[in-house]
Amino acid sequence: MKIVRYQTIGEAVRQPEKAVYGWMLEDKIGEIQGDIFGEYRRREAKTPIADVQLAAPCAPSKILCVGRNYVEHAKELGNEVPKVPLIFLKPPSSIIANGEHILLPPQSNQVEHEAELVVVIGKRGRNITPETAKEYIFGYTIGNDITARDLQKTDGQWTRAKGFDTFCSFGPWIDTEFDASDAVVTCRVNGQMRQMASTRDMVFNVSTLIAYISSIMTLEAGDIIFTGTPAGVGILKNGDVVDVEIEGLGKLTNPVKL
Ligand code: ZN
Repeated sequence: MKIVRYQTIGEAVRQPEKAVYGWMLEDKIGEIQGDIFGEYRRREAKTPIADVQLAAPCAPSKILCVGRNYVEHAKELGNEVPKVPLIFLKPPSSIIANGEHILLPPQSNQVEHEAELVVVIGKRGRNITPETAKEYIFGYTIGNDITARDLQKTDGQWTRAKGFDTFCSFGPWIDTEFDASDAVVTCRVNGQMRQMASTRDMVFNVSTLIAYISSIMTLEAGDIIFTGTPAGVGILKNGDVVDVEIEGLGKLTNPVKL
């Protein structure tokens, strides 16, 4: 099942806090009533997707990210592959939806895209084992971990470089049945290929990441994990359009502006 959050299009200004959950059947959406991670009812899918504004498909309490989880990407920035997962957080205030603008902040001259597979957690868990990790996965979505690379290099840690408003794009939907074990992740800027790799090339797989992170902090339903980016990261300029696509899952598009 494909899960979205949406507002009806009459509400011209996006107000993510007013978005409701829905499910998609081809190009139609039906409202979901109740707790999407617990008990809920699906209404008939009869609203055309063209008549709604999609919000980011869930509202995470935490956005976890994994650094240097593809060998070729670690190398391209002159880094070693870490011995244990290298994790960091992005603030929920950085979230944007499919179609919304990435804003280039004046503090940076080198804002870059990072195409990533994103895991959505479906229930609370602590000290989850790799063997049981799948039970905690609600589904998968597509992400762009936007990064001010120049600030990442000068700062000791990455809160600023990764935390600007609009630096966390994910969606357009969550697919609860997607097989993420060998999916091709690509990134195109203005139609030109920048990144392409399979998720099977990850250093630490999804189950290992869930186990590792939950040994540190409790994961809540709706939390999301960006699983790292392949090689080919590059700069975004005013007026660019960036597409992150995962084969069989969908495409996430964001225009860029100052
Ligand atoms: Zn990343």
